[in-house]
Amino acid sequence: MEHASIPLPAANWPTMQPGWVWLCGAGPGDPGLLALHAVNALRQADVIVHDALVNPAILEWAPQADRIDMGKRGGKPSARQAEISARLIELAGQGRRVLRLKGGDPFVFGRGGEEAEELMAVGIPLKIIPGITAGIGGLAYAGLPVTHRDTNQAVTFVTGHDRKGKLPGHDWAALSKGAGVLVIYMGVSRVGTIAQSLLDAGRAADTPCAVVMQAACADQQVVETTLGTLQTDLQKANITSPALLVIGRDVLIRQKGAAPDLLHPFASPLPLAAE
Ligand code: SAH
Repeated sequence: MEHASIPLPAANWPTMQPGWVWLCGAGPGDPGLLALHAVNALRQADVIVHDALVNPAILEWAPQADRIDMGKRGGKPSARQAEISARLIELAGQGRRVLRLKGGDPFVFGRGGEEAEELMAVGIPLKIIPGITAGIGGLAYAGLPVTHRDTNQAVTFVTGHDRKGKLPGHDWAALSKGAGVLVIYMGVSRVGTIAQSLLDAGRAADTPCAVVMQAACADQQVVETTLGTLQTDLQKANITSPALLVIGRDVLIRQKGAAPDLLHPFASPLPLAAE
């Protein structure tokens, strides 16, 4: 069946009004993880403003929409948030139906909160559609449960990047003690410092770790290692962004091979661009 012809279940799906921005999560990769509200929005949008972590296959669901790629470009890390917000405001001001599409969930390390504030500050009406965040759904595609009664009853989501693209000044001792499992977004380029900070904070060198690159995409790659060997194993496997670091005993109960056949047949064969 052509994806465009898959019907939405009968319901009163909201109509995108001209001049509105819908801030929407696209999930970690596999288009099968889109929310139905996201599909409804893809069908109505006049213009899609997306970031580098949106699977290009998902954009094919909106052949009528113009596409504006606001993904960050290599070498220019953080930055262009003001430009992105200005663009959204401009497009909405022209009376277009704007779909702001972000990888994963817009409110999980996705600056969705900042964009919503900036839009509301100038009176642009918006809706927010959550998405499946990579640190939960993407890990599930690698067979990794973020909680498990036998191994951990708390999980902490951590970012490896602050506004300036630097490692934030986390209290690693508190993070280390606070939860059995740490899921680190945007941690690849700082993996050495992150691992050392956790070792210094008392986490054992043999703590199980996994790295999941291109989670929920056709070329997903998983590396299992330990905290002591995390950096070297990551380098050996040529892991690059986007990837998640998972640190904790739940890695031991990884359900290997359980998830890949969930991948939707039209999941992108292309890798996601680095953020
Ligand atoms: N809003 C997104 C996160 C954006 S921050 C979400 O909710 O998932 C960007 C980071 O997310 C990447 O550096 C990487 O650590 C992680 N990430 C996003 N998509 C990913 C994917 N498909 N595979 C692995 N990591 C991913």
